[in-house]
Amino acid sequence: MTTRRRAPTAKKQSKPSRTEAEAAVRTLLKWIGDDPDREGLLGTPGRVVRAYEDWFGGYNDDPLEFLRRTFREVKGYDEMIVLRDISFESHCEHHMAPIIGKVHIGYLPDRAVVGISKLARVVETFARRLQVQESLTAQIANCIQGVLKPRGVGVVVEGVHQCMTTRGIRKHGVSMITSQLLGDFRSDPRTRAEFLTMIGRAS
Ligand SMILES: [Zn+2]
Repeated sequence: MTTRRRAPTAKKQSKPSRTEAEAAVRTLLKWIGDDPDREGLLGTPGRVVRAYEDWFGGYNDDPLEFLRRTFREVKGYDEMIVLRDISFESHCEHHMAPIIGKVHIGYLPDRAVVGISKLARVVETFARRLQVQESLTAQIANCIQGVLKPRGVGVVVEGVHQCMTTRGIRKHGVSMITSQLLGDFRSDPRTRAEFLTMIGRAS
């Protein structure tokens, strides 16, 4: 699947204050029928806003810039590098509900490689924004392709969408799988097959 969507714009609109954000949470508490002034909820708006700073901290980082700073040139290594089962937590942009899952990344280096923790950080930065899974998948692949300029990149994302499992049609145990294959991963069936075997998804 190769759906491309516009990357979320990190455009700085005039950012509301923390007090305004907490007031918005109070409004939601009232709207669901609770009382934001009862003792158990007094600290909740502040905690929710702090949790949002964590869950949505990815807007403050630029993964492209981060990879540019940390890649290193290697000579002679031209075999596939695969990192599988990178766990992530994200939130869907339709309901702001959690998406929990795993990302698998493979690339065929040309000259540049990065440490595995850096790839995990790229995943985390994009995940800590409001997302649709197709965009998350494409953004990770395009970021690696754009900076490392490898001969190919493959990204597979498996996600469980809580907007689907805890509300609406309440389908438990359903996970969504998306993939973005670039370069040799797209054009060479053997490369694609090797990648899918290495991440345990060969048919
Ligand atoms: Zn949703």
